[in-house]
Amino acid sequence: MLDQFDVAVIGAGMAGIIAARDLSNKGFSVVLIEARDRLGGRTYTEQALGSHIDLGGGYVHWTQANVWRELHRYGISIFPPPTANKVYWLAQDKVHSGTEADYFSLVDPLIARLVADARARFPMPFDISIVDNSDIEKQSLEDRISSLNLSPYERDVLDGVLSGIVHSYEEQGVAQLLLCVAAYFGDYKAFFETASFWSIEGGTRALVNAIMGETKAELHLSSPVRSIFDDGTRVKVTTRAGLEVYARRAIVALPLNTLQDLQFTPDVSPRARAFIDQKNPVMGGKLWVRVKGHIEPFTGFAPVGKHPINAVRTEQYHNGDTLIMCILSDAAAIQGDDKHAVQEALRLFVPDIEVVDTASHNWAVDEFSKGGWMFHRPGSLTEAAPLMRQPHGLVHFAGSDIAAMDVGAIEGALETGVAAARDVYAALSTS
Ligand SMILES: Cc1cc2nc3c(=O)[nH]c(=O)nc-3n(C[C@H](O)[C@H](O)[C@H](O)COP(=O)(O)OP(=O)(O)OC[C@H]3O[C@@H](n4cnc5c(N)ncnc54)[C@H](O)[C@@H]3O)c2cc1C
Repeated sequence: MLDQFDVAVIGAGMAGIIAARDLSNKGFSVVLIEARDRLGGRTYTEQALGSHIDLGGGYVHWTQANVWRELHRYGISIFPPPTANKVYWLAQDKVHSGTEADYFSLVDPLIARLVADARARFPMPFDISIVDNSDIEKQSLEDRISSLNLSPYERDVLDGVLSGIVHSYEEQGVAQLLLCVAAYFGDYKAFFETASFWSIEGGTRALVNAIMGETKAELHLSSPVRSIFDDGTRVKVTTRAGLEVYARRAIVALPLNTLQDLQFTPDVSPRARAFIDQKNPVMGGKLWVRVKGHIEPFTGFAPVGKHPINAVRTEQYHNGDTLIMCILSDAAAIQGDDKHAVQEALRLFVPDIEVVDTASHNWAVDEFSKGGWMFHRPGSLTEAAPLMRQPHGLVHFAGSDIAAMDVGAIEGALETGVAAARDVYAALSTS
């Protein structure tokens, strides 16, 4: 048995490490318990393909308040990919190409119709309760897109541009997309830029290391937690290896899809349990490819389910070769290490491309994530997620999957970690 701590933080992704830093810097004794043998969770910088690459979350933006505060705090900079004026898009079984202006003259009116009510639905995105959105909460992306009566060509074009965030149109709700767009002034291009453009110098690992360099929390890696017992006066956290930790409060900062593996006593409320059981539907992934030679910068899009690689972009150049970043709507659609299959898939966009090497991580089958970026099913954004952010006895939840804004992003993870630390601080300061 370990000593008793003021706070046990479970999960050392962005949400957990920021909560552990903030609370330990306020003088509380904090233990940070992580299942994997590394920090960062669904952010994971690897030295591969001759560069630092982020195999999980990586893109951030200066408009993201928590991200920017932290990058600024540690003097870490960000950089964009090379400018690409060439765009390829798969639609109606044919690859089309044009300039960025050509492509967006097609996409803009379609997306404008899709998200037309974003700001009316979420006029103050930080307070989603001010408009009754119960009707659209039930809508899936598929319901919304079907109602637009698009031609098959338009549908494929729209599918392609959304493929970087979509795994299943039927299982993902429209509300989260509208909230994200509303947060960026109703401008979907601004939202897409925040979600998919600027990388952290040195990778997300640079930020993780900087935060951890300042924490005073006691860290336990390779220690998956099995159960959490709240007796009303303190919390007992037990790892799979039988280690027991006592704390006055616990912060559970885990991916939604792993919460089913933890035993909570007493159990969370029935609504929270239903949310946990429904899970995050996204089983997408990210694949990095080193290809031979200097490829002219390009971007490519293919509709969900119609090609194994869905959103693709030249991202870096190294020693005469090109690094290409690919988003897979379905991580199971291609084996990341099958160079031949990856080459075939990329040749849809650039016919003579030659793959040198690949790097990826399958988040969908990783037992400590069991999925990709969070996207709410119809019905859970405005009700279940706010409920999860409330204290459950002495247990608080955090993580991008239950964030109030920037759901499913690094920013959302940091936001919830900071908020959970604030709530725990308030509770411990008055007890
Ligand atoms: C392929 C991919 C691309 C993405 N791209 C972007 C992007 O470009 N920009 C962006 O902002 N976001 C992106 N995201 C999302 C972003 O990475 C996540 O939303 C964010 O990192 C989640 O942080 P978190 O702390 O909430 O959860 P996590 O990072 O998942 O951290 C949870 C931690 O809990 C640990 N854990 C799990 N089970 C247990 C257990 N039983 N006991 C103890 N510990 C446990 C895990 O090992 C993990 O370290 C992407 C995600 C993926 C998968």
